[in-house]
Amino acid sequence: MAKAEDWFFSKFREDREHSLVILLNPYGNDHNYFCGPSPERKNVAFIQTTHYATETLTARHVPVAYELFASAMRFRAFNVPDYQDRFVHMKDRGCMNDFFSEIKNIRLKILSADVCEECYEHITRQQINPLFIDHVFKGFEAVREQQNSFTRARRERKVLEVQAGMKYLKFESIGAQVSLAPKEMALYKFYLNHPEGVKYSHICEHRAELFSLYEEHYQQVHSDDAVIDQEKRKEAISAVLERWCMQDDDLTQTVSKINRKIKQAVTDTLAKPHQITGPRGGLRKIAALS
Ligand SMILES: [Zn+2]
Repeated sequence: MAKAEDWFFSKFREDREHSLVILLNPYGNDHNYFCGPSPERKNVAFIQTTHYATETLTARHVPVAYELFASAMRFRAFNVPDYQDRFVHMKDRGCMNDFFSEIKNIRLKILSADVCEECYEHITRQQINPLFIDHVFKGFEAVREQQNSFTRARRERKVLEVQAGMKYLKFESIGAQVSLAPKEMALYKFYLNHPEGVKYSHICEHRAELFSLYEEHYQQVHSDDAVIDQEKRKEAISAVLERWCMQDDDLTQTVSKINRKIKQAVTDTLAKPHQITGPRGGLRKIAALS
């Protein structure tokens, strides 16, 4: 550690008062420490990158990243010769200064991303620049986010299966369904039939297909009503398709409505692959199909 520090300050003209050298070291040490400040010097600490601690969490870089920020905080606030006696906790309390008898408990302090009351009191007496506190806080929060199991669960969610029925899109694996109006269902099924995507400006080329989809759903929904004139039905459908062909707002509004309904039913993240999306003027499609 001493050599690393000397080398660093001979090579780089950093202000010693405000610089900490952290040695990322693949070699073990007598005490089997994962990380720690030098017992003799103020400006250097080490992290053992091959330590067992790196194997106990979701990813090996997580505890190393944590200790980078923790080392900075110890350097700024706990840089005293008797650090070990005064501040190291041998009993876990979810504090940055926990020193675990069982190293896999390191996830406790990573998840707390915090210090205990006692260490907090000490830190506040050190008159530390608030910008430094903010910086370390952001680092701890980012590491915690990586380790948090709910974050992982959300990241690892698979694309849901969906069945399109007459009136509902059903996401059976999570027990959710989305009720779509005939016009919306017709448009959604149209996009299901076109995994390659269709630009709004090319919708008109698929008029026949849209007409039959719409008619199928229109009939289904209105079949119990008092006689609906077949001619009137065709007129109503044609009027809607006419507006879509003209790229009237009705098309974008219908898509927005479908997308919103899906989002409300299954959350934003899960909805995304099933929504009809695409760049302005570009191909619109359902990502889950590709
Ligand atoms: Zn503490």
